Amino acid sequence: MANSPKRKPENAKRRRAVSAKALDAEIAALRRDSAAPGLISGIHNYCDRWCERCPQTARCAVYRTGERREAASDRSNDDTGNEAFWNELVLSFAAVIRMIRRDAKRHGIDLDSPELQAVTERADQRRRRAAARSGTALFKAASSYRKAGHNLLRAIPGALADTEKALATESRLGIGQPDATAAAIHDALDVVQWYLFFIEVKLHRAVQGAVDERQLHLEDLPRDSDGSAKIALLAIDRSIAAWARLREHFAAEHSDAILDLLVQLERLRRAAEAKFPAARKFKRPGFD
Ligand code: SF4
Repeated sequence: MANSPKRKPENAKRRRAVSAKALDAEIAALRRDSAAPGLISGIHNYCDRWCERCPQTARCAVYRTGERREAASDRSNDDTGNEAFWNELVLSFAAVIRMIRRDAKRHGIDLDSPELQAVTERADQRRRRAAARSGTALFKAASSYRKAGHNLLRAIPGALADTEKALATESRLGIGQPDATAAAIHDALDVVQWYLFFIEVKLHRAVQGAVDERQLHLEDLPRDSDGSAKIALLAIDRSIAAWARLREHFAAEHSDAILDLLVQLERLRRAAEAKFPAARKFKRPGFD
């Protein structure tokens, strides 16, 4: 029997080695991105990562890097564009790892040392356990809102189709303000969708940050944990406003469910404010 030709792994192209020259070029580009004039240092640490709606893109190094990568990958939705996109990400990841390794070496740290890895792992486990204890109630409330919100968002398209039909009728008859209403509904849906997972993630980060700050005696103001709590609180405020707007339009079908979500969010807001009493006063660079 003839030997069958050896098959190449399907993702071989993606796993091909990135050359040292390409990595150094990417590291230099990352450094240029963060040194461009007019940028606000650390602005991306306390934003909501909604770049499409951000008024500070011109002052953000992360946005700048994203734009550069997008231009380099010439992103289109065909196979070539998609491959370029993944290759860009592989390159960026490898460049960041190389930078970390270089910096660690400069500081005399061997990242491959088994002792260091064991110490880091034990410290991580302790941090996670301490954060879980400290944030139990908040995490439960955030996760409960996320699940309920997710379920409701899956149920809304049916009601949305009916609303769109009614708006189309208004448009034909020349009554009401169907375009403005449709835009308001879609904006509100965008808001609740954008922040659905974000709130929980940021509250986790805030609680973990507070645990670290206590352990490292970094409790002077301003605290990073308050910055994370503040953007979580803003996301909660905006979600409350957006759900309330949606309730006006989907009262017949989902009024009770939306009211339930609003109650959950209000409780979550109060719990987060109680745990992070200084959060509202935190000044986010570039935004407050
Ligand atoms: S600061 Fe604005 S542009 Fe930068 S990452 Fe955040 S949302 Fe995006």
